[in-house]
Amino acid sequence: MTFKNKTAIVTGAGQGIGFGIASALASQGCNIVVTDINEQTAKAAAEELKESTENVLYVVCDVTSEAQTKDLVSQTVEKFGSIDILVNNAGIYPFVPFENMTQEDWNKVMDVNLKGVFLCTQQVLKTMKAGGRIINISSIASMIGFEGLVHYCTSKGGINAFTRALALELAPKQITVNAVAPGAISTPGAAMADDVKEATIKGIPAGRLGDPMDIAGLVVFLASDVAGYITGQVIAVDGGWTLR
Ligand code: NAP
Repeated sequence: MTFKNKTAIVTGAGQGIGFGIASALASQGCNIVVTDINEQTAKAAAEELKESTENVLYVVCDVTSEAQTKDLVSQTVEKFGSIDILVNNAGIYPFVPFENMTQEDWNKVMDVNLKGVFLCTQQVLKTMKAGGRIINISSIASMIGFEGLVHYCTSKGGINAFTRALALELAPKQITVNAVAPGAISTPGAAMADDVKEATIKGIPAGRLGDPMDIAGLVVFLASDVAGYITGQVIAVDGGWTLR
């Protein structure tokens, strides 16, 4: 696997799974664009990655803004010349019981988790060439239900459908589109109280929460040259959670 002279954009990479993916790709020699809505975390993440590679750019981008996603693509192309890998990772998962869920709650989740993927992918595809890789971070919430997350589960089901449909359109161009569906991963966004954590771990056959690097390993593989014949797949990385 070689990522020399390849460039990856990872959205929502200021922390959590996105930062893990950015670090793993950087450690393979990939040029990295760390992008996040949060300037502070994006900048800090880029500084940390600069300890292992010089080829890092950070761009503040709200994935729900078409103008900002256009700017993300133009800054990336200006700095690195091309975009080979897009990891659509930015996502939100606010718990709201369905009976209290407002249109604003619903729209916000759909905007970030689905429209954001649409906008980033469409902008990147304007420059992506054969051999390109689109990797969407879905969730096991696209496969099984979770109370308080009807909007989130729906958005991640949409990601899986988006992945399959776009994979068909892009296969003749030799661009693959796949999704990774994490189980419970230890991140700042998914921080849990000790009792909730204990109960969650009891439901995971592997007996532990996942780490961002558990997700990053599969993303690096799917992004690599050897994965060129895998497309339209949704792969769970969940310590066996969905096997029961
Ligand atoms: P996280 O710790 O909350 O990190 C997500 C990052 O995305 C944050 O830096 C956040 O910034 C940023 N972000 C939020 N809205 C954005 C927007 N509109 N544009 C650009 N960036 C935005 O989340 P995570 O747990 O690492 O999750 C990452 C992805 O994995 C999400 O798609 C999530 O659905 C998926 N996932 C996570 C788990 C899990 O257990 N952690 C399980 C399954 C799937 P702010 O913090 O400033 O909002």
